[in-house]
Amino acid sequence: MKDSALSASLLGWYDRHARSMPWRVPPAERARGVLPDPYRVWLSEVMLQQTTVAAVRDYFHRFTARWPEVAALAAAEDAEVMAEWAGLGYYARARNLLKGARAVVAEHGGRFPGTREGLLTLPGVGPYTASAVAAIAFDEAATVVDGNVERVMARLFLVETPLPAAKPELTRLAETLTPEERPGDYAQAVMDLGATICTPRKPACGICPWREPCAARAAGIQAELPRRSPKAEKPVREGTVWVCLREDGAVLLETRPAKGLLGGMLGFPGTDWDRGKTDASAPLAAGWQAAPVEVRHTFTHFHLKLAVMVAHVPPDAQPARGSFQPREAFRPADLPTVMRKAWEAAMAADPR
Ligand code: SF4
Repeated sequence: MKDSALSASLLGWYDRHARSMPWRVPPAERARGVLPDPYRVWLSEVMLQQTTVAAVRDYFHRFTARWPEVAALAAAEDAEVMAEWAGLGYYARARNLLKGARAVVAEHGGRFPGTREGLLTLPGVGPYTASAVAAIAFDEAATVVDGNVERVMARLFLVETPLPAAKPELTRLAETLTPEERPGDYAQAVMDLGATICTPRKPACGICPWREPCAARAAGIQAELPRRSPKAEKPVREGTVWVCLREDGAVLLETRPAKGLLGGMLGFPGTDWDRGKTDASAPLAAGWQAAPVEVRHTFTHFHLKLAVMVAHVPPDAQPARGSFQPREAFRPADLPTVMRKAWEAAMAADPR
């Protein structure tokens, strides 16, 4: 089958089966000339990096209800955006989101650049996001390659080279299929195919629009592809956080440094996570008790074991770090997931 026939058959499938997404313009509307709002496409693409559609939907609704346009997001306080992002993970994305929104307003008059090249000049926008926004929002024939697309290409063309070494070849193959007509719909069609039919473990080849030309299916090894080089084991790091409660219920919190892991997020004072449990002292002298349950959390590059210390202090306590936030203003949902787990461990140990 020719490349153009492959993209045409996939677009035909997409016309019938496109997933409904809050940031998406369905193919029938698109055919009438409706294009999506670049702000919503960009926001969804940043949120979707390393995260599933199911996890992103609610965040997307909340963000667009609170900041319906890029100018509103650009004008938001950093802390508000970080709090709204809490729980979605990979917090550098939220910081980049703000930088990107502010650059669109300051340098582009509040309008997103309309080309892949222009989008690449925005802070935090890498090749993947630039291609996705250029294709989906502006119908540029940019090739969008994420993990889903790599999997589909490896199977369709029977590429047995393991990832990550296979990436350039898979990208080249994806480029050969990107059509000049409807590239935005095509980009979303491949993503949908990878997410709903050509899934990692049990691809539903029987209902796949590419079942005839698919080389891996013909060879019967589709579920084995893409192959992957063995991953290095993640190291285990350890740390401690101090959950300090004042007698009036106020909670001791600090904003983490802007750079580094969970940068700019709210959290409890604690040790560095790469120097073990004992490198820093508690934020104030108190009768610290260890919570019986240790927090476990996995980041991209390491597993974390976190000891949680809990103490109650009098109203005039003066911490060396952080500041007390009144209990009524404290929302555990504003914390990143690992800190929320620490809060739950502290409350399970001492639910006062
Ligand atoms: S036929 Fe099966 S393996 Fe091939 S692209 Fe379709 S779902 Fe994936």
